[in-house]
Amino acid sequence: MTGRDEGRQARARLVLWELWRAYQQVAETRQVACAPGCHVCCSGRVLLTTLEARLLAEELTASGQRGLLALAARAPAAFGPACTHNALARLCLAGQEPPPDPGPDPGPGPEGRCPLLRGGLCVAYAARPMACRVMCSLTRCQPGGAASQDPWWVTVDTVFLQLVEQVDAGGGWGPMPRVLASLERGGGPGLARCENLPGLPVPPEDQERLSRLLEQVFSRPLNGQPLGLWINRLRI
Ligand code: SF4
Ligand code: SF4
Repeated sequence: MTGRDEGRQARARLVLWELWRAYQQVAETRQVACAPGCHVCCSGRVLLTTLEARLLAEELTASGQRGLLALAARAPAAFGPACTHNALARLCLAGQEPPPDPGPDPGPGPEGRCPLLRGGLCVAYAARPMACRVMCSLTRCQPGGAASQDPWWVTVDTVFLQLVEQVDAGGGWGPMPRVLASLERGGGPGLARCENLPGLPVPPEDQERLSRLLEQVFSRPLNGQPLGLWINRLRI
């Protein structure tokens, strides 16, 4: 890794942690039925960026659970959407249809659980990816059922997932086992490429409310500069 790459990595880490904190604050007012120990949603289908996977790996190493990394990297991961969040947004803004996802979703694997779930709790909760943070439901999910979502929060969640992708622009994205395996190997095939934020294809009824929310998020200070500026500097 060159000095420039290392500098970018360090900035991206700072920004990602700040975005996670920003989302936590934004979501404080969200009405959810979620509670500690409720884990039907921890199904092992988590999609994340390589940067998120690095932070997850560091969290597991720091808590002495590095062995779980190898386990998670070996879990079944045939499911992988064709498009990242920003690729989908780019196609949507251009009025184009996204390509079909490659093959049917084979399900979360024989155990049906995320390999990082232990005793009903996430072992890497502090560094869980954005896809896990946005997974909430208005009513308690049932096995095999779906979460019940407020459309406004679907908009907010999608925007945060787009921002997290922007932070790792040029990096990889895909199902957790595949991303962790690629980290262990130092790269490899099978991951989609994180893209720059192309814009936000937001429903008209949410636009005003969202721009107020983003104003707050982007003006959060991070080492003396607004978060929005940091995010913008991570464009490639
Ligand atoms: S999304 Fe559903 S399964 Fe997950 S914590 Fe919330 S209510 Fe529980
Ligand atoms: S990483 Fe943690 S929060 Fe996310 S699915 Fe796995 S156990 Fe659940």
